Amino acid sequence: MKKVVILKGNIVHTPEPKGFQCVKNGYLVAVDNEIQGIYQELPKEYGGQPVTDWGDALIMPGMYDMHVHAPQYVYRGLGLDMQLMDWLNTYAFPTEARFKDPEYAKVYYRAFAQALKKNGTARAVVFSTIHWETTELLMDILEEEKVGGFAGKINMDTLSPDFLCEDTEQSIKDTRHWLERNINKRKLVKPAVTPRFIPTCTAEVLKGVGELAKEFGVPVHSHISEDIGEMEIVRGRYPEYDNDGAVYDHFGLLTDHTVMAHFIYPNEQELKLVRDRGVTIAHCPQSNGNVAAGIPPIRRMLEMGIKVGLGSDIAGGYSPCLFRAMSEAVYLSKLRWLQSGKEDDFLTIPEAFYLGTKGGGQFFGKLGSFEAGNELDALVIDDGSLSVELDELTLEQRMERVIHLADDRNIIGRYVAGEKA
Ligand SMILES: [Zn+2]
Repeated sequence: MKKVVILKGNIVHTPEPKGFQCVKNGYLVAVDNEIQGIYQELPKEYGGQPVTDWGDALIMPGMYDMHVHAPQYVYRGLGLDMQLMDWLNTYAFPTEARFKDPEYAKVYYRAFAQALKKNGTARAVVFSTIHWETTELLMDILEEEKVGGFAGKINMDTLSPDFLCEDTEQSIKDTRHWLERNINKRKLVKPAVTPRFIPTCTAEVLKGVGELAKEFGVPVHSHISEDIGEMEIVRGRYPEYDNDGAVYDHFGLLTDHTVMAHFIYPNEQELKLVRDRGVTIAHCPQSNGNVAAGIPPIRRMLEMGIKVGLGSDIAGGYSPCLFRAMSEAVYLSKLRWLQSGKEDDFLTIPEAFYLGTKGGGQFFGKLGSFEAGNELDALVIDDGSLSVELDELTLEQRMERVIHLADDRNIIGRYVAGEKA
């Protein structure tokens, strides 16, 4: 028997970045997790099927967190008045070390996965720690909480604190072992190779994980051109390349199944390389501001045809809610506009919504909008608490207000891969 899901309500999505498409009091129909269409009147063929009527609520695609550190959820919202290195040494590294312990990991990875779920994240690309055993645990927990996506055991074998620094050979061996055990184990959560970033990885490890990504056909997740200090280290180690992207590319790590966080200081060649390889950039506005890294040229990337999604970057960002990322993507782009002498146009609200839904969603498959043929990930939003004059607002305006003002309390329904989650 085919599984038919019919949702009734105010349907809002962005098949294209240029504007919202809205259907008031419409029907969204999926059969066996394949969207058939959005209809003003329910087609006769679905007449006898149950309809979930969400009344005056908004129905939108699920949101996709393209860059998030699961262990850092423990200290989110702490130390954000510190400089990056002090913050890493005080909070990030000591906390990550504790995730060697499965009992500790069980508690905090559960809290992390539940936070993502509660905040409307359908799928995510997740950093764990260097420990493959507890990375496996994280994957189990995400699957149980119905948060799909990719999780990665980190590689770091140089320029790292002693208690988090792997032996080079062991790092590659552990990654292979973990990939073999987890490659086809779950429906929603899959592995991605995750070298932390170039400074903490030797050339041997970058080469090794590049080969593993190819052999196992898994995605690559890391950080790129985030910070001037980081980039200076990379230039010193690889003087033959003038950008991070070229180094990753040398090791086979830039493909159309790669997601790279930040890209704040790309040079021209690097922009072209990332576009030509089909890499997705995870834009994490809250984190970019908090760690004072800078403002990436997102408008330029979009104009060039580079794929861009949004990330919370917990705990560089303090909020796992991607509505914050959408809102702050616009905010940050306005500061860049100002800084550029009003040259670099800022992002619009539909563009930010597109980045948080389809922009990231397409990395996981046919996801992020309600076009026919796509899979069904959806959120139901009750925005009644945000306005007293709902009747006077268009659906576009209601969604705009949701982006700026809504939080997990406004999310009243969630569907992942065609099922209520
Ligand atoms: Zn990060």
